[in-house]
Amino acid sequence: MHTVERFHNEMTATQVAAYLRTHGILATVIGNRTDMTGGLNGALTFGRGFFEVVISSKRLDQLAKAYIEEFLTDPPSLPDDWADEARPDLTRLDRALIPDCPGCGARLHASRPLGPCIACRKEYDLLELIFAKHGPEALASCYEQTDPLSLVTDDEILAYALDCPRCSYSLDGLPMQGKCPECGHGFDRRQIIDELFSSL
Ligand SMILES: [Zn+2]
Ligand SMILES: [Zn+2]
Repeated sequence: MHTVERFHNEMTATQVAAYLRTHGILATVIGNRTDMTGGLNGALTFGRGFFEVVISSKRLDQLAKAYIEEFLTDPPSLPDDWADEARPDLTRLDRALIPDCPGCGARLHASRPLGPCIACRKEYDLLELIFAKHGPEALASCYEQTDPLSLVTDDEILAYALDCPRCSYSLDGLPMQGKCPECGHGFDRRQIIDELFSSL
């Protein structure tokens, strides 16, 4: 697995990962790391959280960077369904994080993310209320699929560029499971991908 880009904005990182996946690059977001690298930009970013977009193989670095560039400069070219994947699913949120109606204090529900309140008719946007109360980190559990692998067929997995987890040798053209021809390390493609996603 290889870090291709870092963002301070989780929404952008999540959308970029989704965009890469629609282009056949296995990508996910490793969230909220603290930037302790310092350096030239250190004065601006030191100690701030960042979100890494990681891909399955360093070999796809250039291609992924090109897609990210395309995404950042020309967002309207996104496929129609990208937003669904990038939109947080509030029903996954811990119930305790859902605020009450700002107008009357009635209980709000994740299944009804936009007002008006049933009790007092006040307009609200649940997403904004959660942002204001808990910050964007609270929404982390609402992105991504809990088990992305369950939806992916063997053929699709074989199409992803994967490297040996031990020596980074290319596993292209090799079966779902086997031994790395370079170092002899046993590999299982689903397990490699599973580890990529479980590092979230
Ligand atoms: Zn109300
Ligand atoms: Zn190897």
